[in-house]
Amino acid sequence: MISIHDLWKDYNSKTALRGIDLEIEEGEIFGLLGPNGSGKSTLMRTILGITKPTKGKVRVNNVDPSESETEVKKMVGYVPESPHLYESLSPREFFEFIGSVRGVPTDSLERVERLIDAFEIKDEVNNDIGSLSFGMRQKVSIIAALIHNPKVLILDECMNGLDPKSVRVLKEFLNSFSERKGTVVYSTHVLEVAEKMCDRVAILRKGNVEAVGSVEELREILKSQSLEDVFFKVTEEEDFEPIIRALEETL
Ligand code: ADP
Ligand code: MG
Repeated sequence: MISIHDLWKDYNSKTALRGIDLEIEEGEIFGLLGPNGSGKSTLMRTILGITKPTKGKVRVNNVDPSESETEVKKMVGYVPESPHLYESLSPREFFEFIGSVRGVPTDSLERVERLIDAFEIKDEVNNDIGSLSFGMRQKVSIIAALIHNPKVLILDECMNGLDPKSVRVLKEFLNSFSERKGTVVYSTHVLEVAEKMCDRVAILRKGNVEAVGSVEELREILKSQSLEDVFFKVTEEEDFEPIIRALEETL
C-alpha cells in the first residue's frame, strides 16, 4: 500500500531523512518509533505529499503523492501532530466543512454521528472548538480524519492527550479498520501501545530506519525482554555500532 525507496529530505542545511526504504502492506498497523527529531513526522508528511522529498520514491497505492497530492488525500486520513482546527467553528460545523472539502455526500455524514457517539464528544459538539480541552480537540481531529472513509490512516502521536477510555476506543477502531484491510501508519512515544497494537514497527534514529520488523522479531534479534529494551538498544548513542552490525548480520 505504501512503498518508500531511498527517500531523502533536506531542510536547508539539515538532513531529516537519510535514504529510507520501507514497504507497508495493505491491512497492516505499522508503528513508527524513534526519539524526538528522528524524522517520524517528516516521513509521514512525505507520504501525504505535504512535504516534497529531496530525493527518492514514495508511492501510496501506486500514486506518487508529490505529483498527485489530491488523489492521495482522498485515500488517506491524517491526524497531524499539532492539528489546525478552526477555533470559532463547532465540531459539528467543522465536520460538515471537512465533509464538503473531501466530497462526502451529506447523507453519508451519518458516519460522523456514530463517530461522535463512539468518541463521546456529543456534549460538546455544538460548542466552539476554541473552548475545548486538548483531548477533546484531539478527538475532533481524529473524527475529521475518518469522515471520508479513507483506506489509509496516518496518525502522528495521536494518542497524546486522550483519556484511557478514548485510547481504548481508538485502539479497537484501528483493529477493526485493519481487519477490513485498512492500513495504519502510527507514530508514538508510548512503546507499550506500539507493542500491543502494531503488526510491525520501524525504529528511526537521525533520519535512518535502524530496525524494522514485528515486535517479536526485534526482541529476538536484539535479545531483549521488551520493546522498550529494543528501543533503547537501537536509539542509544553508546554501544550503538555493534548493535547495528549485529542487526545487519542477522537481517
Ligand atoms: P520527529 O517527528 O521524529 O520528532 P521531525 O520529522 O519533526 O522528527 O524532524 C526531523 C528533523 O527535521 C529535526 O531535526 C527537525 O528539527 C527537522 N525539521 C522538521 N521539520 C522542519 C522544517 N519544517 N524546517 C526545518 N527543519 C525541520
Ligand atoms: Mg514528530
